[in-house]
Amino acid sequence: MIDISLPDFEFPTLEAGWVWLAGAGPGDPGLLSLHALNGLKQADVIVYDALVDARILALADKTTEVIYAGKRGGKPSAKQSDISLTLIQLAKSGKRVLRLKGGDPFVFGRGGEEALALVDAGIPFRIIPGVTAGVGGLAYAGIPATHRGINQAVTFLTGHDQNGVTPDELDWDALAKGSPVIVMYMAMKHISLISQKLMDGGRHPSERAAVICNATLQDQTVLETTLGSCAADITNSGLKPPAIVVVGEVVSLRDQMNWLEPVLSQSSRAPRMEEEPAL
Ligand code: SAH
Repeated sequence: MIDISLPDFEFPTLEAGWVWLAGAGPGDPGLLSLHALNGLKQADVIVYDALVDARILALADKTTEVIYAGKRGGKPSAKQSDISLTLIQLAKSGKRVLRLKGGDPFVFGRGGEEALALVDAGIPFRIIPGVTAGVGGLAYAGIPATHRGINQAVTFLTGHDQNGVTPDELDWDALAKGSPVIVMYMAMKHISLISQKLMDGGRHPSERAAVICNATLQDQTVLETTLGSCAADITNSGLKPPAIVVVGEVVSLRDQMNWLEPVLSQSSRAPRMEEEPAL
């Protein structure tokens, strides 16, 4: 057990009328930054997204107001303009506002749009980066995003554009040829089309791929597959978003570096306190 009160460094004060736009990481509360924790402790109001873990929100004071501004594909959700307006209104009313997003706010998180709205409205803000799912999720699956001798570049892409379709602006041929490792967010829905585009661009169907669902959480599930079979394997597995899909030879390192599953099975086997035999 650790004491999660903040250490005695100089931490910034969240002033009235300010918005802190923070990333909460991919799920595991241990991946929260100290700046984000500092914001959680000081905020009057927290405006949070669907993928922010409940245990992270629980770190705030019980009296802190929390506003849900979730956006999940396909479900009715708050409009981006309404969310930005809420942040502006809360700040203008003199609140200390923490805007908490899953992963990193500037990686497929629309944090840039919210920050620009704050700029337009003259609201002062701070950006607190978070561990993005495409990096943290890979690490929890035992897959390095880069590995010397395997890849000198990695691409992060979204499988959805703002209209919910496969991004046509992406040059899939160039990605297939130029990026040895491709890490995909929001790619489950269109994985059949995406994997086909990559194979059409020259990637081999037998190339290793992995799908990491609920990354960094207790119920993290990793599907190991290949580029050619990933679409069918995803359908057959019944796996649902949120998930990261990674394609590239780095996936093979998981054969040796899959550290989380032994830890989880260890902890589910370990006797709980009340079951320990009395001495
Ligand atoms: N800003 C976030 C991304 C938000 S977009 C970040 O930096 O991580 C939402 C997508 O992120 C999901 O559809 C999924 O592709 C990915 N994602 C976020 N959290 C995840 C998790 N715990 N496990 C797997 N994928 C996750």
